[in-house]
Amino acid sequence: MMIRDIAATRKYCRFTADGKIYNGILHGNMVDLIEGDLLSGFSTLRMSYPLDHVKLLPPITPTKIWCVGRNYVGHVRELEHDVPDEPLIFMKPLTSIVGNNDPVRVPEWAGRIDYEGELAVIIGKRCHKVPETEALSFVAGYSCFNDVTARDLQNLDGQWTRAKGFDTFGPFGPVVLLTNRMPAAAAVTTRLNGLAVQRDVLSNMIFSVSRIISHISMFATLEPGDVIATGTPEGVGRVRQGDKVEVEIDGIGILSNPFITDHT
Ligand code: MG
Repeated sequence: MMIRDIAATRKYCRFTADGKIYNGILHGNMVDLIEGDLLSGFSTLRMSYPLDHVKLLPPITPTKIWCVGRNYVGHVRELEHDVPDEPLIFMKPLTSIVGNNDPVRVPEWAGRIDYEGELAVIIGKRCHKVPETEALSFVAGYSCFNDVTARDLQNLDGQWTRAKGFDTFGPFGPVVLLTNRMPAAAAVTTRLNGLAVQRDVLSNMIFSVSRIISHISMFATLEPGDVIATGTPEGVGRVRQGDKVEVEIDGIGILSNPFITDHT
């Protein structure tokens, strides 16, 4: 599929309007309501909202959040690690998820906080021990993800659960592009206050989406609603309170989040 063709691919979203939660299909500046949902099937209703009248939510509530570390050569080198022989897998808690435009809350004691723009895969069907050649048939679609990381705590702890597990450290959205294969030439771009700080094409991932799915499925069952963040390109850097981070992936859209001091 060429990049220009994915403009016609449907974009699934969840949103609130008039105090209720709906699922919908975004097209242009309108959101068409649907009956049903991404994982159990849906049909379009004859009712729409203008996009600027709704508040987008995370496009699904994940079942689990899997992540891949060190999956672009440039990023492995910038953090002075070796290129891994197989995908390095970790998880984020479900409470890390927030949607488009939701604030990422940063505690002042947590030290350096980094953005990590990433492609997210949404699993649509249960799978266990699938070969790479069949792996993409279990994909429901793709979205943008920001694997926000407390870099000092990651180095201090020696494992990553606290550093990547804070509430709001998993911005996800704005939509799910309903396709089981992304074009190799599609790029993931991260902008900090409007300035591009990360940009690479998906074909530069060390481990492809099919390899990652196959790898995880060898030790754990992937379930409908599982989300896999596939790793970040070179150019990770610090975010400060008051900054805005955008993660854009060709054909999907822009995930935008302000970073604020945590006063909760
Ligand atoms: Mg990451």
